[in-house]
Amino acid sequence: MNQEERLFGLIEELYPICRSISGDGVRKSLQIIQKHIPVQVQELLTGTPVFDWSIPKEWNIKEAWIKNSKGEKVVDFDDSNLHVLNYSVPVDQVVALEELKNHLYTLPDQPDLIPYRTSYYKEDWGFCLSHNQLMQLEEGDYHVYIDATLLEGSMTHGELYIEGHTPDEVLISCHICHPSLCNDNLSGISVAVHLAQYLLQEDLKYSYRFLFIPGTIGSIAWLARNEDKTERIKYGLVLSCVGDAGQITYKKSRRGRAEIDRIVEQVLAGSAESYEVRDFTPYGYDERQFCSPAFDLPVGCFMRTPFGEFPEYHTSADNLELMEPEALADSLSKLKSIVGVIESNGTYLNLNPKCEPNLGRRGLYKLTGGDTESEINQLAILWVLNLSDGSHSLLDIAERSGISFQTIRQAADALLEVDLLKKVR
Ligand code: ZN
Repeated sequence: MNQEERLFGLIEELYPICRSISGDGVRKSLQIIQKHIPVQVQELLTGTPVFDWSIPKEWNIKEAWIKNSKGEKVVDFDDSNLHVLNYSVPVDQVVALEELKNHLYTLPDQPDLIPYRTSYYKEDWGFCLSHNQLMQLEEGDYHVYIDATLLEGSMTHGELYIEGHTPDEVLISCHICHPSLCNDNLSGISVAVHLAQYLLQEDLKYSYRFLFIPGTIGSIAWLARNEDKTERIKYGLVLSCVGDAGQITYKKSRRGRAEIDRIVEQVLAGSAESYEVRDFTPYGYDERQFCSPAFDLPVGCFMRTPFGEFPEYHTSADNLELMEPEALADSLSKLKSIVGVIESNGTYLNLNPKCEPNLGRRGLYKLTGGDTESEINQLAILWVLNLSDGSHSLLDIAERSGISFQTIRQAADALLEVDLLKKVR
């Protein structure tokens, strides 16, 4: 299997599972993830206070349907787990169509699609169906049945810590609470798993922490219980919607000029593809919690087409067909490049700062002109020598010179080799 197939394959395996912010769907998903990476599964008991919130009751579901008066199933959870309002309380009742309609959710503007709806914090029951399905329902009585439980239990999340040479951390977080929806966010989960798999093989300067958490309540709970660890987080990314064909969109951290923001922009600018960088807004995924004022962590959000901006968002059309294996692989490859910059950025000192050193003598001066690539390399060497006064990092030099980080890094390596440069930090 190649990388694209592996990325898509994991999405395919996780797709049928009915997940929510708690319950066996999340546990089952984490068990599948454990076949790829040694993620630790943690449980937090219902009622545990986490800042201004508390861990909700645990929700599980077996079966759900609506039958018409002839006993025919007109809506069935077995056909799509989006058919049930996620977190529905159990129900077993016969109701008239007018009453039933108060519990039905459709998308009149996208009449073929089933919407995805949740009711985590208000106990209610309901069904989601295509508007076309709703239009076909005749007057009469309907038997509604949801075999679900909403009980004291626990909320589950997965965590993987990869230890590097320093305790300073890079946080990678994705939400794991959506049922059969692909871009939002099985794509984020699959890309995170494969990024972790890659990092597990590497000799790393930084430590990496991967979180597979239910949206909002998961990050609030993690922050509440790991406040002491947050100071170590030097870089962070929330991954979501990374499998569609759209260009990459990066939403900056609240700080706006955090090193992670600069690095992502550097990597995206260095690729030949179009991309968009947006400012922070206090709406979106778990970066909302990581960037809340008391934490203000350097955590941005890495996406392709942002949530709410693709028509399939939160509908049954956010399915396997929407996934572009090439886009998944591209998202992963960009993240590896971002990690590459995080790992190899550094600050150096020019050991021959009085005028330019004699590069020709050291085999670093290209005597033949006209080769564009070597001219760029030459220029990169001059930039590194000029700005390596102990206060500019390679990232600073790349930004100021407009030369890619990769090329600046190579120039620094060449200068290190001939003892013209010394690492400061
Ligand atoms: Zn969502």
